[in-house]
Amino acid sequence: MKVMIDIGHGGSDNGASGNELIEKDINLKVGIMLYNYLSQYDVEVRTTRNSDVTLSNDVRVELVNSYNPDLCVSVHHNAASAAEARGAEVIHAHYDEYDDKLANEILANMATIGMPKRRIFTKLNSRGDDWYYMIRRIWDTNTHAIIVEGGFVTNAEDAALLKSDDFLKLESVAIGSAIVEYLGLKLKSNNWWNEAMQRIVSEGLIENEHNGNDFVTWGEFATVMSRLLDKLKL
Ligand SMILES: [Zn+2]
Repeated sequence: MKVMIDIGHGGSDNGASGNELIEKDINLKVGIMLYNYLSQYDVEVRTTRNSDVTLSNDVRVELVNSYNPDLCVSVHHNAASAAEARGAEVIHAHYDEYDDKLANEILANMATIGMPKRRIFTKLNSRGDDWYYMIRRIWDTNTHAIIVEGGFVTNAEDAALLKSDDFLKLESVAIGSAIVEYLGLKLKSNNWWNEAMQRIVSEGLIENEHNGNDFVTWGEFATVMSRLLDKLKL
């Protein structure tokens, strides 16, 4: 399995801006965090850029198509003239065989971290083909392409979230864990936390191994601590 993370805009192309946020910068942060997240799995991952460089449409498309990934996910953030427009969107190809499982999973995960689901959609040009070149020029039988818009820099509530690197990390996990589930990826066996994870599974403190960089809720933490206390009292 191969995944390309296409990090939108860069260099002289700022993308959207608003509330002191520049889209190219947050795309880069989320894209690199997503790369690090997926690198823990048994999948080959690349990004179209890993610094603030300008990429023409042709170069961007060629980077993806020469790599020939199973999935290309373009990371973007939105802008609108109406300041009240907010939330996350996923854009996909118009083809019938498109299944929106991945898009739904990404937006469901985003909603749990406070970025509301706005819509899943497809947009056509006058020839009836996909409007967005990163879908039109990339989607084929081998490569599926989607665009994730992780919230509006022009909306005060979304921007407050997007200003926080902690939130961007959560966003990268929201997208990454959806990709892991969709592609059925397995964790690599050489992750630094593997030994500790296997130990607490074999001791019965948790039931299954997890990604060591996934977040734990207070409910999960309390459950594990409670099991540990039970054990210590033996
Ligand atoms: Zn963009």
